[in-house]
Amino acid sequence: MTRLAERIALVTGAGSGIGRAIAQDFSVHGARLIINDIDLEKAEETADLIRQAGGEAYAIQADVCSINDVTAMMEEVKSKFGVLDILVNNAGVIVRSDFRHMDEEKTQQSLETNLNGPIRCIREAFALLQQSQHGAIVNVSSVMAIQYLRQLSLYSVTKASIEALTRTVAFEFAPYGIRVNYVAPGYIDTKMTEKFLRNPHFKNALIEKTAQKRLGTPQHIAKAVTFLASGDAEFITGTGLTVDGGITLSIL
Ligand code: NAD
Repeated sequence: MTRLAERIALVTGAGSGIGRAIAQDFSVHGARLIINDIDLEKAEETADLIRQAGGEAYAIQADVCSINDVTAMMEEVKSKFGVLDILVNNAGVIVRSDFRHMDEEKTQQSLETNLNGPIRCIREAFALLQQSQHGAIVNVSSVMAIQYLRQLSLYSVTKASIEALTRTVAFEFAPYGIRVNYVAPGYIDTKMTEKFLRNPHFKNALIEKTAQKRLGTPQHIAKAVTFLASGDAEFITGTGLTVDGGITLSIL
């Protein structure tokens, strides 16, 4: 499979869950991977898995909340590869709190990781993406961008903002040959959601509300990201794919 043959791809937060699955799927399609995570051990684990399967992967520890880390990461990409073809802004956190009880620290953590992180990565990667003949950015949003769940208001705000960011940056970057899109996953079984899904009532209610009567897997999301990052999506920019098994279709 060669949809991403020889493309240099950077996936943030690729040490686990959805990010790891995206990196693995990219590799299956021929991409050369830069695996970012705040946790170097987890990033190395993903890189090892890819190499064991015959792919090429290189781990970089960086906190997307830190401008110094992000600039250093892009410098490393520049010196190692000279170009970046694909950037996936996947790193994210859920900080649970009622809105009225959010303190400054929780607010900053949420905004910094989920919104300023992608803004920073896009800005700092621009010069490298501009060198590419196939520049593509895929931002990982969430169905929460358009839905309400108790204690997740700020998470929803960051994901709705990611979608607005996608549209505006897509227009500005189009003359440089860089496409910008997002995927909005439904409920996927990962480290991030394990606490929620441990509650059988919540889990069953989610499944019941989903048209396909099942939860998604990281691989379902990865396939959509691979499509948006590939030449098959060459005329698609500034938009998104909801990958949720139909959970956003019905009120009840
Ligand atoms: P996860 O917790 O399994 O993975 C997130 C990864 O990001 C972790 O490896 C973590 O170490 C890394 N990370 C966190 N903060 C970071 C930082 N500051 N810098 C660099 N790396 C950092 O979660 P996941 O479910 O795989 O989530 C991945 C993305 O998908 C997130 O953006 C999340 O909001 C989004 N998402 C997840 C779901 C779901 O149901 N799991 C649904 C919709 C959207």
